[in-house]
Amino acid sequence: MLGAFGGKSKTGSTTSLLVSDSVVIDGGNIMQPLDNAAKEIDHIFLTHCHMDHIVDIPFLIDAFFASRTKPLTIYGLPHTLKALKKYILNWDIWPDFNEIMLMNQSDKSVLLKEIEFDKVYDEGGVKLTPFETAHTVPSCGFIIEKDNKKAMFTSDTYLTENIWDTVNKDKNIKALILECSFTSDMEQLAINSKHLTPVMVKTVIDKIYRDDLKVYINHMKPDFVDRLKKEFEDLGLLNDGHLILLDDGYEIEF
Ligand SMILES: [Zn+2]
Ligand SMILES: [Zn+2]
Repeated sequence: MLGAFGGKSKTGSTTSLLVSDSVVIDGGNIMQPLDNAAKEIDHIFLTHCHMDHIVDIPFLIDAFFASRTKPLTIYGLPHTLKALKKYILNWDIWPDFNEIMLMNQSDKSVLLKEIEFDKVYDEGGVKLTPFETAHTVPSCGFIIEKDNKKAMFTSDTYLTENIWDTVNKDKNIKALILECSFTSDMEQLAINSKHLTPVMVKTVIDKIYRDDLKVYINHMKPDFVDRLKKEFEDLGLLNDGHLILLDDGYEIEF
């Protein structure tokens, strides 16, 4: 987890997962944790277009554009890529590197590739399969597959049966990374912004009939972390070690 939270603070940053040396899912926090190793990133898979998932992408492109010899490819749903081009890489906020050639090369510095739900993308030693989620904009999560072992990363989403259906059916999924953004007394805000509360996380866990699955929580809003932790404790979810609250730098094994 390069970034495990739903906001930026002194101790944590926004959503980004390093899934191999050259592949990240979401670009909420790439430059600070990876430093020079960020140069090795060739593939960025996006779950959706919200700022907390893309904010480091302009800096990543800019930092290594002059020394790269192959394009950086950004994968996303059609809506995600359209928004990135319209609102960020639009020559006002940032140059459109999708139109700028690499120095001394015949390739574009950035390529944008549309992805489809349930199709497998095999890049940089990892297979990623996007699946549909329920957020305020078109969004997806990813099944992450390495050496026949799988993890499911939902990214930002409201309750969707896709989650428990998939992990109940596929026993090779050993880790489920869910989001939780708001405390349960902010239920209406969670519903409106299509995020989860601890009570909703419990709803998901109660629908899963497996005792070998580890469930991880990311995307807690920094200001609510203490209250969310207390709520998860009160719900009895932190006791058996099956639910783990993620921090930046955490290595998820699966
Ligand atoms: Zn979002
Ligand atoms: Zn988010």
